[in-house]
Amino acid sequence: MGFWDKEHCEYCNGAIVEKITDLPRKVGKRYVLIKNVPAGVCSGCGTRYYAANVLKRIEVIVKGRKKAEKEIPMAVYSL
Ligand SMILES: [Zn+2]
Repeated sequence: MGFWDKEHCEYCNGAIVEKITDLPRKVGKRYVLIKNVPAGVCSGCGTRYYAANVLKRIEVIVKGRKKAEKEIPMAVYSL
């Protein structure tokens, strides 16, 4: 039984399936990519849901209390 079994989307009532996702987050003025984030993804509209304990772990990273595995340069463009 997955965490999201029998849960339904609050927007479209679609079934939610658990997936491992990559989550880009803006931290201050830069973006970080958090990999291997378990999320409940709506099979209807694609809305992602995160469990409270997952959000807590994301928070730790966003607040800079965990060292990044690697730093990559990011391309910047302007129109
Ligand atoms: Zn939905």
